[in-house]
Amino acid sequence: MKYGQPNWEDTIVALATPPGIGAIGMIRLSGPAAIDIVDKLFPSKSLSEQPTHTAHVGLIREGGQVIDEVVVTLFRGPRSYTGEDVAEVSGHGSPYVLQQLIDAFLRNGARLARAGEFTQRAFLNGRLDLAQAEAVADLIASNTAASQKNALNNIRGGFSQDLRMLREQLISFSALIELELDFSQEDVEFADRAQLYHLVTEALEGTTKLADSFRLGNVIRNGVSVAIVGKPNAGKSTLLNTLLNENRAIVSEIAGTTRDTIEEILNINGILFRFIDTAGIREHTSDQIESIGVERSLEKMRQADVVLYLFDANTMPAEELLVNKRAFDEQGFQYLLVGNQVDKGEEALMRDRYAAATPILFISAKQQLHINVLRDRLVDMVLGGKVQTEDTVVTNARHYQSLRQIAGALADVRQALDARLPGDLLALDIRRALHYLGEITGEVSNEDLLDYIFSKFCIGK
Ligand code: GDP
Repeated sequence: MKYGQPNWEDTIVALATPPGIGAIGMIRLSGPAAIDIVDKLFPSKSLSEQPTHTAHVGLIREGGQVIDEVVVTLFRGPRSYTGEDVAEVSGHGSPYVLQQLIDAFLRNGARLARAGEFTQRAFLNGRLDLAQAEAVADLIASNTAASQKNALNNIRGGFSQDLRMLREQLISFSALIELELDFSQEDVEFADRAQLYHLVTEALEGTTKLADSFRLGNVIRNGVSVAIVGKPNAGKSTLLNTLLNENRAIVSEIAGTTRDTIEEILNINGILFRFIDTAGIREHTSDQIESIGVERSLEKMRQADVVLYLFDANTMPAEELLVNKRAFDEQGFQYLLVGNQVDKGEEALMRDRYAAATPILFISAKQQLHINVLRDRLVDMVLGGKVQTEDTVVTNARHYQSLRQIAGALADVRQALDARLPGDLLALDIRRALHYLGEITGEVSNEDLLDYIFSKFCIGK
């Protein structure tokens, strides 16, 4: 099969709902014969004569034998998910019955869909661009409100819209340049250099902003790793339990999570926080040797995106806290100093004593004081207050790479402008930027890339 030739002859079928027992299971068929194939097994009326976007209840029957009572929904192309004729057959959610239905459709001319083939057809029929198609996979994989919102935004074309704007900027830029090239004999500078400079700077800013959002995108997709460290008896396991009691996230698996350490996962405001090496916190014994503890903590802190340094605010010498703080600064950690056990003393005095150590906050893990403040600070640390949740966020590593290439090409253009290089050299860099832009939306693509992207989908999508 060739890509770029969307007129396939064959009709594909797959279970669209998860395998296993459910109230309802849905089987989807797409392709020129989708409606005819179901029609052959649907004696109560002629589906081929029914209008698009209608639902029909009836029996699926093959060779005199009833398989199931179903609801068939018809979507005629191009007004369907794939752009082809689509029939969705909802049956009773027994894996056995659903398999019988699929087998019957296969015997009557359909073939099993490959992973992602429905969405792939939608892409090749121009129903979605590549960035949108990939967002479908993200949405299916999303496990927090934030990742869901972001994927939905991208399916609706939020990201693609930003790219279109960028593309328009680049095209108007190259139009000015080309105009100048046409008149090169006459040695005039048509394209106003100041205007060009302004355009390319704007495009560069837009690209950089999108590329920068990838850090947040990664956070939304993969979560933030947090290390809770501190001396024995600071209250680490108490804090972990307090946090987990309210916010334990139900997640089956997160991409990129290392399996060799035990982690607890919290969902705070739609962002997943992974508390790493929690086994180390829990298994602590009273005779833990300090030096081993320190080395192990350092290792743990290096792995983490965020370090929570917990200390007993009744007993910790202020000088020692400052020494630790300086060490964290030197290591470049993103950290929060957390004074615990404030219920045992005067909080105001503690604030005074540790005034030189920032960023700091005070809690009681056991009495659950100021735990909200801690949660908010964690979220702030990640979002940095900079990113509006309405902004487009790049979550896809492939898009990130392309955006970096675009930014690189644009920076070259700007340099060329600074050096007053001739227009044909500028045009070359602009074309390079446009090429990478096309790679994201799928206007420039190759078969291997498409195969790779769609193979990550589950069957039935
Ligand atoms: P870890 O060694 O850092 O994990 O410390 P633990 O969580 O095991 O706590 C050590 C002791 O301090 C336990 O007896 C806890 O009940 C107690 N503790 C922890 N947090 C607080 C707190 O906020 N207030 C008080 N009063 N006791 C606490």
